[in-house]
Amino acid sequence: MSDSTESRKSTRFNKLQKKLRREAGRAIADFNMISEGDKIMVCLSGGKDSYTMLEILRNLQHSAPVNFELVAVNLDQKQPGFPEHVLPEYLEREGVAYHILEKDTYSIVKEKVPEGKTTCGLCSRLRRGSLYGFAEEIGATKIALGHHRDDIVETLFLNMFYGGKMKAMPPKLRSDDNRNIVIRPLAYCREKDIIEFSGYKDFPIIPCNLCGSQENLQRQVIKEMLQKWDREQPGRIENIFAAVQNIAPSQLADTRLFDFENLEQGQQRGGEQAHRLDVVNLFG
Ligand code: SF4
Repeated sequence: MSDSTESRKSTRFNKLQKKLRREAGRAIADFNMISEGDKIMVCLSGGKDSYTMLEILRNLQHSAPVNFELVAVNLDQKQPGFPEHVLPEYLEREGVAYHILEKDTYSIVKEKVPEGKTTCGLCSRLRRGSLYGFAEEIGATKIALGHHRDDIVETLFLNMFYGGKMKAMPPKLRSDDNRNIVIRPLAYCREKDIIEFSGYKDFPIIPCNLCGSQENLQRQVIKEMLQKWDREQPGRIENIFAAVQNIAPSQLADTRLFDFENLEQGQQRGGEQAHRLDVVNLFG
């Protein structure tokens, strides 16, 4: 490779790395994801997203205004052909503290899900359960997952199209069992950037379909729809994500979020401010 190609590659890589760091840093600050003394369990599946998250968090560790600890955790779900050596070798080479947790969720999924049905739902639930329990065991104060902006937008459409709910995937949440705080530091990062970054870093990717399952079909349909929009209408995904952060309950129809019933009395409970802002936007 010529010197100029090398230098173009390295400039592009530095730009990309800075962008991902900046976006992750902004998400961490906006949602108060990390505090002084946190021990963060970084869930590492071996896919591009989790490798990128670990790399960016390690990067931020040097410049962050607070001290925090990172521990990578991989759940070996005992899928046939899972290359057990890949993650330990990578993490040792990088000098990252880690645990490999072994749980045969593969057999449970095979036993419970009828042949031909999608297995990802149950598989991820079991994975979450094992990881959340383990976080408590190792005294982790936060659990970091590698979902990015496009996962959040996809989930929004999945819930709207197939679940009749306007609901996405929050950058920070308390787990259902109330035991853990889960954070998604890549919430503002584009999948395209993560793919490119992970290509530059040449992470030893482990595919997530060793179990033989096809990726969830509904999610695939949404993914293709969004990719088409992104090609034909650049900026649309950014706008959708901005919309997720800019809700106006008074302009929707959920009576639990806005007190339509008592509008006449001028006693607006939730959403009052949003309502006023909308009026300003429309007429201002
Ligand atoms: S592809 Fe297989 S391993 Fe990955 S989430 Fe789906 S069921 Fe689990």
